[in-house]
Amino acid sequence: MAECSQKSINMERCTCTYPGCPNHANCCDCLHSHLAKKQLPGCCFPADAEKSYDRSFEAFAKAWSL
Ligand code: SF4
Repeated sequence: MAECSQKSINMERCTCTYPGCPNHANCCDCLHSHLAKKQLPGCCFPADAEKSYDRSFEAFAKAWSL
């Protein structure tokens, strides 16, 4: 797969703290890998919820519920 031309910008924006993941700054692959598991990328979550590494839709809804 071709190198993403946005990779350096994506790296600055990536808020995922999961160590060692090859999808850091590869947003297309990150999104697709999580959607295939009915999850969302770490950047969709507020910081405290992101650290749990629970990327499920349920965790997303819970994290943002008022
Ligand atoms: S959200 Fe998931 S796929 Fe994306 S960089 Fe973090 S651990 Fe990797």
